[in-house]
Parts: sequence; structure tokens; C-alpha cells
Amino acid sequence: MGLLKGRFAVITGAASPRGLGKATAQLFAEHGATVAILDLDAAAAEAAAADLGGGHVGLACNVTDKAACEAAVRELESRWGRVDILVNNAGITQPLKIMEIGPENYDAVLDVNLRGTLYMSQAVIPGMRARKSGSIVNLSSVSAQRGGGIFGGPHYSAAKAGILGLTKAMARELAPDTIRVNAICPGFIATDITAGKLTPDMKEMIVAGIPMGRAGTASDVAGCALFLASDLAAYCTGTEVDVNGGSLI
Ligand code: NAD
Repeated sequence: MGLLKGRFAVITGAASPRGLGKATAQLFAEHGATVAILDLDAAAAEAAAADLGGGHVGLACNVTDKAACEAAVRELESRWGRVDILVNNAGITQPLKIMEIGPENYDAVLDVNLRGTLYMSQAVIPGMRARKSGSIVNLSSVSAQRGGGIFGGPHYSAAKAGILGLTKAMARELAPDTIRVNAICPGFIATDITAGKLTPDMKEMIVAGIPMGRAGTASDVAGCALFLASDLAAYCTGTEVDVNGGSLI
């Protein structure tokens, strides 16, 4: 316990009650961090922050809006004095096949997953650079590594693969400032993003292909985010960590 004592962390898309962001926020708070939950709806973000206990913050922020990302981070920096950790977790999927993807689908999925990761990172980097310290954790996906996510869509695979490139490029550029940038590639995790889109048969088929024989849980991913955000990972940057029960073996 206490791996993030005294740290200030921002997690996007963390209001979803069973989501990876909320589980990460809970684990970070248990380890002593003060957490800001950013999400589309202010009331949902505030309620999720209140669930963590006192002193945490919930703010409305659409990560596709650069001005909103800047405003949220400036507000947190003025409250806290700094942001130590950013988890770029906000994401959307669309269960489309390649010929079904229209321009608006492509824009929407790339905007939230990839553009949002850039905008939020750009908002925190100046402060981290000034202090020569920071950790950014980006949520990619197994869909980036092997394509064909049953529910995600090819444009989701493209966005999540883009996050891997962005992660490595940012890690290389920011390493001299001791800002670490890493990615997590979750496999099949049971959350709202997967729940509504799969029939029981589809779920059974996916789980049958996972060597560990089960879907992942939000806390499986949160544990990896905690490691990457903390000083335990002080010499890790530009990495992608698979949290997938052996799906790529
Ligand atoms: P979720 O749907 O439960 O939560 C996503 C959250 O993002 C929601 O709270 C939503 O309101 C928020 N959001 C959507 N658009 C936003 C925007 N423009 N600005 C701010 N917030 C926005 O999803 P989850 O399963 O918890 O997934 C979290 C992350 O992990 C996503 O990036 C997802 O792509 C990735 N991921 C999930 C899985 C999985 O199996 N669940 C697998 C691989 C990767």
C-alpha cells in the first residue's frame, strides 16, 4: 500500500461504474493518490470521485476538445499545484466491419481514442517538464496487436495501434525530462464496453481462446496501471504491457 502516496493523478473516462478507469481510480486512491476523474458528464464524474472518498475530484471533460482538456488540467494544477500521473483511458468502440465504416465512424473512434490521448498528454506535459517528472499511461488494446476485435471494429484497431506509436514517440521525446510514457494492451475484459455488444455464445467463444480460461477483470488492468504509474516502473518507458490471460501466446 502507499505506492502513490502524495501523488496527483488524472484519469479520463473513469466514471463508468464497472470500467477500467474507475477500478484504476479506486486502486490509485487506495495507494494514497489524490485522483481526478474526467468524463463526459459532470454529475457522473463527481459521483465517481465521491465513491473514492473525500478529497478526490470529478470534472466534465470531453477529451476530443483540446480547449476542454487544457481547461481541466489548468483547473487541477491550480488546485493541486501539479499533476504527476495521467491515465488516458477514455475510449469508444463501434462493432462495424471494414466496408461499413463511414467518415463519421472513423472520425468518432479516432477522435476519442487517439486524438484525446494526444490532447490530454499535451495538457499535462508542460507542468511535468517543468518538474522533470511524470508518468503517462495509455490504454491501447489487443485489437491493435492482432486486429479483428469482434466488437471493436477495424477503425478501433487502427486507433489503438496509433496509440502504441504515439506512446513510443512520446516516450522517446520525453525521456530526457524523466516523463515516462507506457501503454497497456488489455485483452478481453468484462466491462460495459464489452457487455452490451456480445451474445453469450460470442463470449464463450472468446473465452475458449484465452489460455487462462477466463475474461479479465477491471482490477487486472488497474494493477498494471498502478505498476506503470508508480516508481516501481521507474526505468520503464515506451513499453506496452499485455494484460490478456495469454491471448497472444
Ligand atoms: P467503458 O465504456 O466502461 O468506459 C469508457 C468511458 O469513457 C465511459 O465512462 C465514457 O463515458 C468515457 N468517454 C467516452 N467518450 C469520451 C470522451 N469523448 N471524453 C471523455 N470520456 C469519454 O470502457 P472500458 O471497458 O472501461 O475501457 C476503458 C479503456 O480500455 C478504453 O480505452 C478501451 O478502449 C480500453 N480497452 C478495453 C477493453 C475491454 O475489454 N473492456 C479491452 C482493451 C482495451
